[in-house]
Amino acid sequence: MSDSRPTDTPTVKLLIDGEFVESKTTEWRDVVNPATQAVLARVPFATAEEVDAAVASAQAAFRTWRKTPIGARARIFLKYQQLIREHMKELAAILTAEQGKTLPDAEGDVFRGLEVVEHAAAIGNLQLGELANNVANGVDTYTLLQPLGVCAGITPFNFPAMIPLWMFPMAIATGNTFVLKPSEQDPMVTMRLVELALEAGIPKGVLNVVHGGPDVVNAICDHPDIKAVSFVGSTKVGTHVYNRATLAGKRAQCMMGAKNHAVVMPDANKEQTLNAMVGAAFGAAGQRCMAASTAVLVGEAREWIPELVEKAKTLKVNAGTEAGTDVGPVISCAAHARIKGLIETGVRQGATLELDGRDVSVPGYEKGNFIGPTIFSGVKPGMAIYDEEIFGPVLVLLEAETLDEAIEIINANPNGNGTAIFTQSGAAARRFQEEIDVGQVGINVPIPVPVPLFSFTGSRASKLGDLGPYGKQVVTFYTQTKTVTARWFDDETLGHGVNTTISL
Ligand code: NAD
Repeated sequence: MSDSRPTDTPTVKLLIDGEFVESKTTEWRDVVNPATQAVLARVPFATAEEVDAAVASAQAAFRTWRKTPIGARARIFLKYQQLIREHMKELAAILTAEQGKTLPDAEGDVFRGLEVVEHAAAIGNLQLGELANNVANGVDTYTLLQPLGVCAGITPFNFPAMIPLWMFPMAIATGNTFVLKPSEQDPMVTMRLVELALEAGIPKGVLNVVHGGPDVVNAICDHPDIKAVSFVGSTKVGTHVYNRATLAGKRAQCMMGAKNHAVVMPDANKEQTLNAMVGAAFGAAGQRCMAASTAVLVGEAREWIPELVEKAKTLKVNAGTEAGTDVGPVISCAAHARIKGLIETGVRQGATLELDGRDVSVPGYEKGNFIGPTIFSGVKPGMAIYDEEIFGPVLVLLEAETLDEAIEIINANPNGNGTAIFTQSGAAARRFQEEIDVGQVGINVPIPVPVPLFSFTGSRASKLGDLGPYGKQVVTFYTQTKTVTARWFDDETLGHGVNTTISL
C-alpha cells in the first residue's frame, strides 16, 4: 500500500448517498494489471467516517425504498439487465485488465451475474407470503416477508462482476438498501456495474460502496445499523466475518474456500471427461472457487494420466486480452509466489510432478504473473498441495480402487463446495449424489454452479450460515417473516366476553 503514485493515476471513488466521491483517506492501494504490472488506478481504504456515512445514507433511503411498489423495483432491474447486456464488451475489457482472465471468460463472469439481475426483476414471485383461512372462527393467519433494512456485501477478487451481482440486486429488489465492499484487488468492473445500476434508476442511498481491507470489513461487521452481511471469499476471512457479524446480532452468510474433487470412473467417456477436467482445472488460471483442482482416478482411469497431461500441454498461456488464450495470469505477484512455493513443497513432499508450469514465459508479457498448467500425481492427504487450497492452475491427482473409497476421501476433506463424478453408470452417479457431503454436485458436469432458479450452497468448511446467496434462499435471508393473525368483527363473529385461556 502506498500513497506515492503520480497524482494523474485515476482513483476509484466511493459511492455515498448517490454521489461518487473521492475518499479522504491517506491509505491507498494500487490496482494492477496482472499481465503487465501496469498500475490502472488507486483504490482507497475508506475511513471510519466514510463507512458511517455510507450506512447512514442507506438507513435514510430504507424509509422510502421499503415501501416502493414491487413493480417499480422490478422495472429498475429490467432496465439494469438491458444496460449490462449493452455494455458487455466494455465490462469484460475492464475485468480482464484488472483481473487477468480471458475476455470470453470475463464475459462469462458478467453473464452469470446478469442472470441474477434477470431473476431479481421477477422478485414479486419469490417474495410472496402465505395465508391460511379460518385458522379459528373468523380468524385468518398470513405472513409478510419484509425487508430487513441496511444489508452489506463483502466480495472476493476472482469474480468481480458475478459475485457483487449475487448480492446487491437481490437485496435491493426485496426492499433493502445496501453497502458493498468490493475486492480491493479488482474494484473497477464492480464500480462500472454500480454506475450502470444508478443509470437503471436505483435511487440515491439505496446502493452505497466503500472500499478497503480488514478495518472496513470489521466496521461493517460491528455497525449497529447493518442488519445482514453476505460474504464470499476465503475460509479464514469468512469464518472471522461470520463470528464477528453474528456476535453483533446480524444475519450472516459466508461462502468460503474449496478443494473441489472430480471423481473419474473407468466407465466414463474418456475424451469428454479429460476435456472437461482440463477446462475445469485450468480455466481462469484455476482461480474459480468451483475449479476442479483435485481428481480422484478410480480403477483403470488411473491409466489416463499421460493423456490428461498431453491435453493440458496444449493450453495456451498468455494475456487474457490475446485471442486464443486459455490460461491468463494469476491475480498478483504475491499469489504467483505462493502458488510456486506450493508446487515446490509438493515436489519436496514426494508427489510426482507430471507437468511443471513454473517456468512458462510469455513473449511481450515478461512481467506477468503467469504459471502454466501444472499436474501432480501420487498425491495424498497430509501433503500441503492437497491440504491447502492452491487457487492457481495446479491439478492434483489421487487414486482409489473403488467409488466408495473415492467418496470416503472426499468426505474426509474439510471442504464441501463443489464436486463432480464422471461416469456412464446411473447407479454410480446416484450413489455418489446420495453419499457425498458437498454442496454442489455435478454428474458429468465439471463446474456445477447453480443457475439463479436455485441458490448457491456449500457444506462443512465451505459455508457458514444456513441460507445461500441468490435464488429462493436469499429472499428468506434478506427478509424478516412477520406472521399476522387477524380477526375482523362483524355481526356473526362478535366476541362473548372475557376469555383468559390461550385459544383464539
Ligand atoms: P479473501 O478472503 O482474501 O478476500 C475476500 C474479502 O475479504 C475481500 O473483500 C477482502 O478485502 C476481505 N479481507 C481480506 N482479508 C481480510 C481480513 N483479514 N479481515 C477482513 N476482511 C478481509 O478472498 P480472495 O482471495 O479475494 O478470494 C479467493 C477465495 O474466495 C478463495 O478461497 C475462494 O475459494 C473463495 N471463493 C469462494 C466462493 C464460494 O462461493 N464459496 C466464490 C468465490 C471465491
